[in-house]
Amino acid sequence: MSLNRGKFTLEKARAYLEHEPAMQVEALSDRLFTVTDGHCRSIFVSGLKSVVAFDTFGTPGRARAYRNAIETRLPGKPISAIIYSHDHLDHTGFAADLAPKAEIIADELCAKVVKARGAEGQTVPTRILRGQRNEITIDDISLVLLNPGPTHGSGNLAAYFEKERVLFSSDTILGNAKYGFMPDYHFRNFVPTMRSFLELDWDIFIPGRFGLTNRDGFIRGCDFIEATMTECQRAFANFVPIWLYEPMKGFVGGALSERFGDLEGFDGHIGQMAIRIVHHYLMGGWGLEDTPSGGVLLADEIKV
Ligand SMILES: [Zn+2]
Repeated sequence: MSLNRGKFTLEKARAYLEHEPAMQVEALSDRLFTVTDGHCRSIFVSGLKSVVAFDTFGTPGRARAYRNAIETRLPGKPISAIIYSHDHLDHTGFAADLAPKAEIIADELCAKVVKARGAEGQTVPTRILRGQRNEITIDDISLVLLNPGPTHGSGNLAAYFEKERVLFSSDTILGNAKYGFMPDYHFRNFVPTMRSFLELDWDIFIPGRFGLTNRDGFIRGCDFIEATMTECQRAFANFVPIWLYEPMKGFVGGALSERFGDLEGFDGHIGQMAIRIVHHYLMGGWGLEDTPSGGVLLADEIKV
């Protein structure tokens, strides 16, 4: 098939890859917009002549729907740049279908993983950012892009909008308990790195999926993950069979239900969260990136 396929090999995956969902766009200021397909969420920024889009929505169909949503809201302004929040295909997989001529900006580690992965339709970044803070200007759009440490995926870039008092950080903290499946979260560093964003002055937090939250919701999200990590360690001390779903759900969910049971999705997701996080302690983490210096991953192997 001619459709970009990411890592799919099955012809029947075409139905998933081609689907174009309805997109909802919400203006946060005269230049900043947030957009969702009902599951993933991202942002785009309007400039004088063009648009900077964050992420791609992860299939060719969703990338086209994203492009159409931007064109409808900001007619006549092409997408001049796409910023990858991290390497995962469900967020940055199909830039070739969103805006094939756009500049692609990414953190160095994200760029290395994307290059090494070679997924069909995931465009290799053309501008590489290094370090914890980058201030760049595209068109007349000034952006502050932050990577204070390993959180989720490879080379996670957050965007801080001081004027709007908004922080965007994809696939990190949610205002609910609907993650569950948490591969490639770097738990050693995750909560301390996310809490470091509280040093900045913002009121609205935009996660990479579902709804927006505020500062209190963000703090509670950090507390929730931290508490789950604590209970997963207690599971060892109580000789819970940590490789089994039901016992882990019962132990961790039971311990946290009073404090966090009101979070949307708690009952359905706490078991999976516990299974994932308990293996952080069993195995030690997500390879090299779960160390304080995740950048050593691929340091001398891939040049970007
Ligand atoms: Zn991700």
